[in-house]
Amino acid sequence: MSLIVQKYGGSSVADADRIKNVASRIARSRDLGADVVAVVSAMGDTTDELIDLAHSVSPQPDAREMDLLLSTGELVSCTLLTMALRTLGYPAISLSGEQAGIHTDTTYGKARISRIDTARVRQELEKGQLIVVAGFQGVTDDLDVTTLGRGGSDTTAVALAAAMDADRCEIYTDVDGIYTADPRLAPDARKLEEIGYQEMLELASYGAKMHPRSIELGMVYNVPIYVASSFKETPGTLIHQGPDEDPVEDRVKVTGIACNTNVAKITVRSVVDRPGVAAALFEPLAQVGVNVDTIVQNTSADRTTDISFTVSRTDLPGALRQVETVLGELGAAGVITDSSLASVSIVGSGMQNTPGYASRMFRALADGGINIDMITTSEIRISCIIDESQLGEAVQLLHHGFQLEEDN
Ligand code: ASP
Ligand code: MG
Repeated sequence: MSLIVQKYGGSSVADADRIKNVASRIARSRDLGADVVAVVSAMGDTTDELIDLAHSVSPQPDAREMDLLLSTGELVSCTLLTMALRTLGYPAISLSGEQAGIHTDTTYGKARISRIDTARVRQELEKGQLIVVAGFQGVTDDLDVTTLGRGGSDTTAVALAAAMDADRCEIYTDVDGIYTADPRLAPDARKLEEIGYQEMLELASYGAKMHPRSIELGMVYNVPIYVASSFKETPGTLIHQGPDEDPVEDRVKVTGIACNTNVAKITVRSVVDRPGVAAALFEPLAQVGVNVDTIVQNTSADRTTDISFTVSRTDLPGALRQVETVLGELGAAGVITDSSLASVSIVGSGMQNTPGYASRMFRALADGGINIDMITTSEIRISCIIDESQLGEAVQLLHHGFQLEEDN
């Protein structure tokens, strides 16, 4: 019998009818002969509502209490889904993260899974049960409940699939797959049949909604992840060690366009040019957990230089506070910020070792009159920081420029 892990997101279980719809989908997989472990998110906006509620009784809710509170959202959806399955006549049991053996470290709010004890899940499968696991949560060695970070049910699902050596992990959501670009920005965006882990990782961390840690896990443990709609029957996208790794020369080399509007820039003006300056600037940011993305430092003409870097807009106030503490030490003339920026990226593992992509990207943007503020590259991605007001146009220009509307 094949083993499938299926994850259903919050909008797929948002009300009683949708829960019943998910139950019949799981039942259908069982009828086709599969063992199923389902993982669910909290119903609809439950997690947001619980967070608001916490803030309405306390300005700074305690982290441990917050995680135990948020874990209840997934307990509601997993028990209701189990009841619906039993009503359809299928043997089913719900398990909390703890009962499913998901152990984590003690970092409340973004705990990492340390190990999964699969004994209970295996035992229930042997009894012929369908299993519904509460996503997004685990337990510490001291039996305190933790959560994995917003959107973390994807990670629960892929981690369980890896631990159980499942045949595949299916992520059911309100979109029907991974697209060549955000269809709201590029109307001729096309659904991809398949995509490599690396590419998906770049798309996920630069926009497309999936918990990036779930993709990393899928890549490390080689779990094929199928993303599809829970509302429609249309085929989705398979994320796997796919065609990207094979050396066919003539496939289209750009797989998709990613974009991100959560970008702010900090420029530290006229910093003295001597060893230790960058360390002195970025160490205080690391200390408070600010993630720095693009960094640009000019060569100095007069022994001083400007250093610019980007952070997420949410991190801007905290980052600025840290930078201000070291301005004197850096001999800097001042600091300026800009939070009206966005990043747009071309992503494709086929770009590796192939020249010409950067210039084509810059030409396409230039022809559209779009000014590039900063540029970064990785092996399989080239990103430009531009003005947010021009993002939609930039995505369309690049989508068209790299012929992504055409099926290859
Ligand atoms: N319910 C949690 C959230 O909204 C986890 C999830 O949806 O995956 O972030
Ligand atoms: Mg959710």
